Amino acid sequence: MSSKVRVRFAPSPTGPLHIGGLRTALFNYLFAKKHNGEFVLRIEDTDQNRFVEGAEAYIIDALNWCGITVDEGPTVPGSFGPYRQSERKHLYKNYALQLIDEGKAYYAFDTPETLDHHRKDHEAKGKTFIYNWHNREKLANSISLSADDVQARLEGNEPYVIRFKTEPDKILQLSDQIRGEIKIDTNILDDKILFKSDGMPTYHLANIVDDHLMEITHVIRGEEWLPSLALHQMLYDAFGWTAPKFAHLPLIMKPVGKGKLSKRDGEKGGFPVFPLSWNESIGYREAGYFPEAVVNFLALLGWNPGTEQEFFSMEELISEFGLDRVNKSGARFDPDKTKWYNHQYLLQRDNQKLAKSFSKLLENKSNAEKNQDLAFLTQVISLIKERADFVSDFWELGHYFFETPTHYNEKAVKKQWKENTADLMQKVAEIITSIQDFNSGNIEDQIKNWITHNELPFGKIMAPLRLLIVGDLKGPHLFDIIELIGKDESLNRIERGISALA
Ligand code: GLU
Repeated sequence: MSSKVRVRFAPSPTGPLHIGGLRTALFNYLFAKKHNGEFVLRIEDTDQNRFVEGAEAYIIDALNWCGITVDEGPTVPGSFGPYRQSERKHLYKNYALQLIDEGKAYYAFDTPETLDHHRKDHEAKGKTFIYNWHNREKLANSISLSADDVQARLEGNEPYVIRFKTEPDKILQLSDQIRGEIKIDTNILDDKILFKSDGMPTYHLANIVDDHLMEITHVIRGEEWLPSLALHQMLYDAFGWTAPKFAHLPLIMKPVGKGKLSKRDGEKGGFPVFPLSWNESIGYREAGYFPEAVVNFLALLGWNPGTEQEFFSMEELISEFGLDRVNKSGARFDPDKTKWYNHQYLLQRDNQKLAKSFSKLLENKSNAEKNQDLAFLTQVISLIKERADFVSDFWELGHYFFETPTHYNEKAVKKQWKENTADLMQKVAEIITSIQDFNSGNIEDQIKNWITHNELPFGKIMAPLRLLIVGDLKGPHLFDIIELIGKDESLNRIERGISALA
């Protein structure tokens, strides 16, 4: 086995990748890069009944979007391919037959009906039927049947599966990089199917054969695979292969209550659980998250840096990551925290870059000229980004930079619009008209000087003026808005507002 670290992400293309799966990919990637190793993508598509068209492309797109680069995989040639199990199916059967030859596996001819009958029969007696040492002699397999009978059945093309012969009365010593040592009594294990009647290997056989052939050194996967570890270790031992090191990552838990995060939790709570949209389910990308934010919050779901640091670039994650600081217990998913991360990344992001994304959203909004003026958009963004979590929030927060208000917050009007307000606003318009150097500071000075000079209350001017300019009492510094929309548009808004509110 090579000494170079080689890890794999081995999803089954049965639908969109859940963010839990994406986190598994991320941890594998970080671990590989930290150790100058390789990150392999292997598609485990041996279960033809569960195959979903488009799922593989989805997985690849999701990894690309997050900046998780595959070193070898279905679309990246390498020396251990092919990387789709369906293209390797000719490989697996011989391994199963080898185990039969060595007495470590056997043919089983029991029909689904017989097995079902046994299951029900056991249930009725309050027991559980397990196909293993304790009843295999009574079932139809190459251990209980004579060699001639087995031969005849095989020649007669009778459907069969190949089962692993689990040795009873042993205590298996398993080792997990995150959970430490685990002991399993083999008497409680069943004789798992390695090879199915449809001519395909099961996940277990294909998975360990491929991990061996692809020289995988570390298997990092979700906790739901921990129950398979005993069988996998027994298979490595049966073949006489050195097993990779195993690490089972903690589950990602629902925001509240027990159990792991599901698609339904996302639907109920109105947050994505998939990286990219899939059918009617919205993805993080389409919801407006930055991939950097997603990578950052995912990394902290189950791993802790051991410091107070909250923000990590991919490079920082690579240098800091280690399995020793992956937690054993489930990681609680917090949708508010994911938004908060996006907000933070949005604040840090260059306004010109944001302006480019924003202009795309504005394409079919009014005022097309301004929508494409990147310098203008950049300035708008610098005034409103503080309150935004997503680029898509910009419109809601700043639509009045682009369109003249047509209605005015009624409550505010009632409270702020007095008998002499229209006259006062006319005066403000005159001042604005006379300003030569039209910048926020200057506009503010001139208007405030006039207010002070006439001993007027500030609120009596500022609130109605904001109403006319914005249509509401919200928004950033009023004089910044006035500067940005310009003298003509400001005067236009004051005039229109005065007649609208008259
Ligand atoms: N194909 C399995 C899955 O869908 C892989 C589990 C493993 O990493 O061993 O997650």
